[in-house]
Amino acid sequence: MYRAFLIKYGEIGTKGNNRYLFEDALIRQIKYALKGAEGKFELSKEQGRIYVTVASDNYDYDSTVAALKRVFGVLWICPMLQIEDNGFDDLAEQTIEYIKDIYGDKHFTFKVKARRARKNYPLDSMGIAAAIGEKLLEANPNVTVDVHDPEVELNIEIREHINIYSEFIPGPGGMPVGTNGKATLLLSGGIDSPVAGYMIAKRGVTIDAVYFHAPPYTSERAKQKVVDLAKLVARYSGPIRLHVVNFTDIQLYIYDACPHDELTIIMRRYMMRIAEHFAAEEGSLGLITGESIGQVASQTMHSLAVTNEVCKLPVLRPLIGMDKQEIIDRSIEIGTYETSILPFEDCCTIFVAKHPVTKPNLSVIKKSEHHLDEKIDEMMKQAIETTEIIEIS
Ligand code: ATP
Ligand code: MG
Repeated sequence: MYRAFLIKYGEIGTKGNNRYLFEDALIRQIKYALKGAEGKFELSKEQGRIYVTVASDNYDYDSTVAALKRVFGVLWICPMLQIEDNGFDDLAEQTIEYIKDIYGDKHFTFKVKARRARKNYPLDSMGIAAAIGEKLLEANPNVTVDVHDPEVELNIEIREHINIYSEFIPGPGGMPVGTNGKATLLLSGGIDSPVAGYMIAKRGVTIDAVYFHAPPYTSERAKQKVVDLAKLVARYSGPIRLHVVNFTDIQLYIYDACPHDELTIIMRRYMMRIAEHFAAEEGSLGLITGESIGQVASQTMHSLAVTNEVCKLPVLRPLIGMDKQEIIDRSIEIGTYETSILPFEDCCTIFVAKHPVTKPNLSVIKKSEHHLDEKIDEMMKQAIETTEIIEIS
């Protein structure tokens, strides 16, 4: 029965003169998300609000709501009945019908909230609320009024059309992607990094991604898994340019030349260096990782400090204070968990030492890296030049 949605947004309403930029970004992201829903839609902007109107005979309510729930910046999705103004009696009748359709003979308390954007309507806001409330009480023995803490807030808005709505479906919050610059996500096939990308995109940041692939030690299926994860993140963030770096030679070189308990940390420093290269190329203003303090040896405070030392850009680590279980819960919520736990090896697990250092010393690590002086620059160049770019949308 619903053929229109009122989209309410939160934080972006407070951005002063830049507000239209935020609204335009939100509209762009809603359009992008709705490509994943069945139906055709029209979007319009009216006084600090956005309407999505169904423009095709066939459309699917559930996939439409699911798509809207993935748009950052959306606070509430209110499916609404939109009617023409055919006088007050018609409005009352249709409102009663609407309530019956949605709530059947459920008992509930309600209050009517009316707004009149068009001053030529014969009743004022208070008048509309009172009169509709009265009609509803007459028609429906299962409802009572509670103006302080109602279970149902029935909204009647007299605008160009009349909007009737009472359902509030929560959106993800955050800010529309495209309003806060770009950052480069180090995306692996694990549980953490897709969640990290989601969280930064949620703050309005456009993301691109880098994956370090180590064939034949990591398989095509491991790469496909990362592509699939990027697609899942892109449902929220919008299109992602995924850089697939062939990391095998560098890893083997480190393996040959450096102490094995330092492999992971040195490898991670090279990942950061290469990621920074692509960040610069893409106009990214930061890197994003899925690191969390103490989760593994390479994520102790000491290790993070040594890894960070190679970076000039800020490294955003949105999971830094989260426990593994909290990260898992979030990945289930956003729909990446099932893919993340597929059992394909990732490049770090293959070259991992039995007893990696947990308190690396920067000068020691730097000394070990000198063992790579002969060939590493050429190898980095080679890795960058042979990187495959996959456009994910
Ligand atoms: P994740 O679940 O995200 O893979 P993890 O618990 O396996 O994380 P690490 O392997 O130590 O932890 O990786 C820490 C972070 O480094 C990851 O969250 C990711 O941002 C980055 N990273 C690790 N391996 C790769 C890779 N092969 N390609 C791109 N980024 C990677
Ligand atoms: Mg990993």
